[in-house]
Amino acid sequence: MTTAFWHGQAHMPTVKKAERVIVRGEGAFVWDAEGNRLFDAAASLWYCNIGHGRREIAEAVFEQMVQIEAYATFQQYATPPPLELSERLAAMSPMPNTKVFLTSGGSDAIDVAAKLARRYWSVAGRPEKQTLVSRERAYHGLHGFGTSIAGLDFNREGFGNLMPDTVRVPTNNVEALEDLFRRQGDTIAAFFCEPVVGTGGVIPPVPGFLETARELCRAHDVLFVADEVITGFGRTGQMFACERFGIEPDMLVFAKGVSSGYMPVGGVLVGERVWEPFWADGSELIFRHGITYSGHAGACAGAIANLDVLEREGLVDQVSALEPDLVTALRPLTDLPGVAEVRSGVGLLAGIELVDASMVPAALEGCYERGVLTRLLAPKTLQVSPPFVSTRDDLTRMVDVMAEAIEAA
Ligand code: PLP
Repeated sequence: MTTAFWHGQAHMPTVKKAERVIVRGEGAFVWDAEGNRLFDAAASLWYCNIGHGRREIAEAVFEQMVQIEAYATFQQYATPPPLELSERLAAMSPMPNTKVFLTSGGSDAIDVAAKLARRYWSVAGRPEKQTLVSRERAYHGLHGFGTSIAGLDFNREGFGNLMPDTVRVPTNNVEALEDLFRRQGDTIAAFFCEPVVGTGGVIPPVPGFLETARELCRAHDVLFVADEVITGFGRTGQMFACERFGIEPDMLVFAKGVSSGYMPVGGVLVGERVWEPFWADGSELIFRHGITYSGHAGACAGAIANLDVLEREGLVDQVSALEPDLVTALRPLTDLPGVAEVRSGVGLLAGIELVDASMVPAALEGCYERGVLTRLLAPKTLQVSPPFVSTRDDLTRMVDVMAEAIEAA
């Protein structure tokens, strides 16, 4: 019997015979169906920031769901949790006067931001400003717009004609961005930017890149959309990476850490410039977008409970405190012959790039056998993004295991 479950981003001929079933989690560790205890070096898919197995989140969701599980939020309807979550997010936002559009995840939110960027310019009387710019190696989810602006080419291939009017620029090259804006700024709606490229291999910005890119967007009337699906809610040691790098975006896309993955929640923090035409008294405009589970009551209750934990336990400061420990722990890896580069130094985020992609399966397997669960970031980088509740000893042991596994590979 093979599985009926079609896994995402998976080679099914291999996976159908080799599924790994995770049955339990507690803090920074998970257990598989065979009883193996594993350090969750990737926090699942970058999201389990507060750690696994928090009963209070389950209870908060339960309490909401026995009141009302959800009620659709189209037109004037709402339930209390999305109202409370939106107030809370607006207050935390790195932009003044933020409005919040909620979704079920990051790809959904990218679609919102892309449509809103184009709609904003059409409303502003400049419908020719449609082009969406993204960076090479960028990952913005895999819905229609996310696929169209993907900077990892394999995520774009074979789907026929994608969304027109998208352009990619080199990952950390401000001159290329300026050159593009100078030539085509009049037709560009928005620049989508992960402050730290995540799935593309954990690539921090070169000093000054984000600040200058932000200024260029202002100068050329291009909206700056920060994709903080990974970096948001503390991963870089500040609540948002925009704060760490001192930039104020026009929109900020979030998901994952807003609920630590306990419930599927995402959304867009929208700055005043963009929301104002749609909210102003007397405006006839409607943003023709909406999804059934936008502001889902049970999901939002889970997110609120997650933010409570994050704040009460000071977990964002914990990330700051652990950042140098992670850098120190990773340092010896650079001397291993199998390691090409270690990229770290921005919070609890690192990428260990191996010299050869053919080593990756054995390295991942070696980590797993030794009790560390991580994953491949294309084309040959191991992901390091542990839960915020990891200890310094956990990080040291994780790196020791990875070193052994890489050497064996
Ligand atoms: N944007 C970034 C930067 C991401 O890393 C991801 C997912 O990993 C997404 C968007 C898409 O989020 P989701 O998988 O929740 O749709």
